[in-house]
Amino acid sequence: MIRVRVAPSPTGDPHVGTAYIALFNLCFARKLGGKFILRIEDTDQTRSTVESEATILSSLKWLGLDWDEGPDVGGPYGPYRQSERAEIYAKYAHQLIASGKAFYCYRTPEELNQLRAERREKGIQKAFKFSDLKLTAAEVQQRKADGQKPVVRMMVPEEGVCVVQDRLRGSIEMDWDNVDAQILLKADGMPTYHLANVVDDHLMKITHVIRGEEWINSAPKHQLLYEYFGWDMPELCHMPLLRNPDKSKLSKRKNPTSINFYRDSGFLPEAVLNYLGRMGWSMPDESEKFSLRQMIEAFDIDKLSLGGPVFDQEKLKWLNGMWIREDLSASDFVERYAAWAFPPEKLEAIIPLIHERVETLAEVAPLTALFFNSLPVLEESTFDGLKLDRETQVKALQFSSWALDNQVSWKRDDLYQLLNGLAEHMDIKLRDFLQPLFVAMSGSTVCPPLFDTMAVLGPDLTRARVRHALKNLGGVSKKGAKTLEKEFRSFAT
Ligand code: GLU
Repeated sequence: MIRVRVAPSPTGDPHVGTAYIALFNLCFARKLGGKFILRIEDTDQTRSTVESEATILSSLKWLGLDWDEGPDVGGPYGPYRQSERAEIYAKYAHQLIASGKAFYCYRTPEELNQLRAERREKGIQKAFKFSDLKLTAAEVQQRKADGQKPVVRMMVPEEGVCVVQDRLRGSIEMDWDNVDAQILLKADGMPTYHLANVVDDHLMKITHVIRGEEWINSAPKHQLLYEYFGWDMPELCHMPLLRNPDKSKLSKRKNPTSINFYRDSGFLPEAVLNYLGRMGWSMPDESEKFSLRQMIEAFDIDKLSLGGPVFDQEKLKWLNGMWIREDLSASDFVERYAAWAFPPEKLEAIIPLIHERVETLAEVAPLTALFFNSLPVLEESTFDGLKLDRETQVKALQFSSWALDNQVSWKRDDLYQLLNGLAEHMDIKLRDFLQPLFVAMSGSTVCPPLFDTMAVLGPDLTRARVRHALKNLGGVSKKGAKTLEKEFRSFAT
């Protein structure tokens, strides 16, 4: 029985890359009568949030990517959330210690930094191995007595070549030289990605690991863990990374990457899936427009091409237009549009913002148009008449962008706290600080109350609009960004 999984870490926006990997896993499973599993990899407790998990699940559902087993629907190999499986990983880590394949390591981060610096000076590039990290028995006793908590690390070969088989790429050779004695269990007892991923793929009977190529470098460690445990390794298929039109790795600075941005910008889920399906793959008859059902019928993973597929918003828009014209009857369109533009909770949130400002109902639409739009058309001249000079505007927008990226709660008052804090740090009157943000949100200096507006727009459209404004102002140079980032980090938590 074929069993595949997508294993997102809930540490941010639901990324189009996650949907892309999920889509190809789903097609592989459905074509071959297998199962598609969703597993939440939330072992990084400092970065994982329940909000992120919920949006990842809801955005994959919006796309129509349904899983057979997962944290919400359960299944025979649960729990499907790694934070609920801590004891399982600890048991396997200790098994490796008992068999001499892993060791307790008492080295502190400061010591490791020092070791690294010494090596850099000597021009040594090798990764850390057991032999580099081991301490004398007396030192270990001392640290234990001091109550220091160790991590568990895996033994890795000191040298030689590791050969990993990839279904799409054939044999891949990597030097053991570059592979660290990877931490498996952290000092707090939580596993790292590597241990949890291998243990879960085994226990959940995963037969094929279809994931992004950024994980290729982890494959030697994973292969070694399978060997240590005496388990069969699933077949590996590393998919090509999605790229920006300039061929750099897809990044939110150049292209909105949150699935919800596309939903909130009025794209149809069918079109987004169709577009993702064309990333590295094509229908046997080369047709550009196809449904998920058609893709599953024709799917053959061995036909995947590895040249970096380009995710281009303009092409997606063009394809979305085809779906709208060819697949929506007038009445479908009415239904879809009403559901997108006027869900009751949206109007309920918007109307109070302009209730006091209008004399007729006819004034509502022009005043609230920004809520029914994606990115506004921005004229650089709109930023000209503002209180702050251009450089300070850019700085205010850049700080806001970074701060909003880290913001989890999207409640009005929390957004106020956040941006007010930034204005204080920059020593600017809040009103002046907010002006460029008004323009970013609405394309003009008039806008309903800003914090409420952002709260209604939601994180994805708000963040994308701030980035869009920055881009329209010419952005920040790489060097400038470094200096600004330093300043930002000095006060941002
Ligand atoms: N948690 C990893 C991610 O966020 C999963 C990688 C894998 O599929 O092994 O992509």
